[in-house]
Order: sequence, then C-alpha cells, then structure tokens
Amino acid sequence: MGARTPKEPVKSMVEPVCHVPYIQHTYDPPKCQNQSSCIDAVKWVQDFHMDTRGWDDIGYNYLLGGDGRIYVGRVMLDLAQKRVKCAIEMGVITHDYNCTDIETKHINMWLFLFVLTLLKSYTLASICDEITWVSRAEWGARTPKEPAKPMVTPVLHAFIHHTDDPPKCQNQSSCIDAVKWVQDFHMDTRGWDDIGYNYLLGGDGRIYVGRGWYACGRHTLGMNDKAIALSLIGNYESDAPSQLILDLAQKWVKCALEKGVITHDYQLHGHRDQTCTTCPGQRLYDIIKKWHNFKGGKLDTYVCNKTLTTISPSLDIDYDIEF
Ligand SMILES: [Zn+2]
Repeated sequence: MGARTPKEPVKSMVEPVCHVPYIQHTYDPPKCQNQSSCIDAVKWVQDFHMDTRGWDDIGYNYLLGGDGRIYVGRVMLDLAQKRVKCAIEMGVITHDYNCTDIETKHINMWLFLFVLTLLKSYTLASICDEITWVSRAEWGARTPKEPAKPMVTPVLHAFIHHTDDPPKCQNQSSCIDAVKWVQDFHMDTRGWDDIGYNYLLGGDGRIYVGRGWYACGRHTLGMNDKAIALSLIGNYESDAPSQLILDLAQKWVKCALEKGVITHDYQLHGHRDQTCTTCPGQRLYDIIKKWHNFKGGKLDTYVCNKTLTTISPSLDIDYDIEF
C-alpha cells in the first residue's frame, strides 16, 4: 500500500496464547468504498499516528477497508505463530496444517479467530437463552393497578423465596394457575398493585415474568427498591426442589449478572436473612447457602414486624406496608 518505514522496529508483543482481539474503528478518516480511497485512508491513519501522535508506526495490527480488503499494519510473525498455536490447541486446525504463504496464513488465521471470537462471545452471552421464559401475556397476567416504579440497576442484592402457597406445580397448566393464584393473592388479599416478585420459577422448568428485571418489586421488606427476587413455586421447608429447578435458579442469577441487573460482587440471600420469615424454607435455604456470593445470617438491614409475623410466620408475605 506504500507504507512508510517505521521510525523504530516494533516491539514484540507478549500476549496469552488465546488472546481476544479488540475491535476498533478509526473515527477518521470516514469509511472508504474502493481500493484507491482505502489506501489513502490507511496512509492517512499512518501519517496521523506517526506525525501527529508521534508514534513509531501505524498503531493497528490490521485495518479493514470498505473495499473488502484487510490492510496489514504492525504484522508480527511471533503473533501469527501464537494464533496458529491457539488454533491448534482449540482443535481448529491439525498440527500438520499446510499453508504456502505465511502472510496469507497469518491473515486467514486472524480472520478465522476473529470470527471464532465473535461466535464465542455470542455463545457466552446466551445463558439467558438457556431459560424458557413465560411472559406476562403468556401466563395471562392481570394489568397492574398502577405502573411499577422503575428500579435503578445494577443492584447489590438478589433474594430467593418460595411461595409457600400454592404447592409446587409439575406442568405448564398447573404452574400458570399457581402464578395467577399468587398474583390474585398479592393484588386482592394484600392489596398490592401487582404480583410482588420479579420472577417465579415453576416445577415445569420455566421461569415466569413477574415485575421483570427493572421494576421495584414487593417481595422483601426494606429491599424492594434495591434487590431482585426469584420465588420458587412451592414450599421447601422439608422438601428440596429438583436439581433441574436448582440449576435454573442459578442460571437466573447468572442471567441477572450477565444483563448487568446485579453487580459483579452481588450478594445472594434467602428472604429470611432480611426479615422474620421462614422463607425460602429450611431445605432450600440450606442449599442456596452453598451457592456463589451467598451472604446469610441476619443482614445489617434486617427488619421485622413481630405482630404480623406472629399471625402467619411461614407464609411468604411481605409486610412492607409503608413501601
Ligand atoms: Zn419470601
């Protein structure tokens, strides 16, 4: 392309064998559409980096032009070899791969790993897709009396509940009935605007949308505007949920993390850690104690309305009447 000679030879780069490439755009010059304008653009970038920035050479390893060609920037043989080694380790190519042109091999391999990285990113981003979600429309939710207050995310806390009533459900039909029962109970008996939980997990292996990720719930006294809550349908005082359900609950936490709804140093609790209730049941509580980022025992923010809990100590009721 007519590159200028670097002022100094490039330093060899130390990088992990399987390095994730950074994708950048040039800002200036604008995108080019043919070979001539793309060569001009790459030269412009080199001049800018060397003359204005004062660097030894063009900064990028490669540049991709709108003409569909990749322009070599700071190509380094050892880097190419590392990426080839990475490809071998990943089983992408065999040890006796054959390429006739080292430059072509380098570029092809870089492109291949670039695509692989995109695919890997896509795969990593799909934990939420491993969950079968049931939208409010799908389970036939009632319209809230008032729109929910939006919640500022990410939040630090995630709470696990059980519904206590109704008992655990085993198929789609009975789980939909259970979620509707909870919504009716919260709206009609408790007088709340909507179902209290952000999400509910049914024995049918599906997660039902309550108030969703970004709305303040009505689930945990003193924490409704700073926590998300998942409630497992059923009573888990003496019964343990199936492994399938436990796996799904943990995926739900990971999904919240991936979406940035909870912080990286999030704290996972049982409802009983915040207020005087037996929720989420002793068996389930003993299980979640072993999960990542669990923080149990009475929290500093622990609150209790003794009068009301004396009336019904086990039913999963939020007494946050001031909220
Ligand atoms: Zn609870």
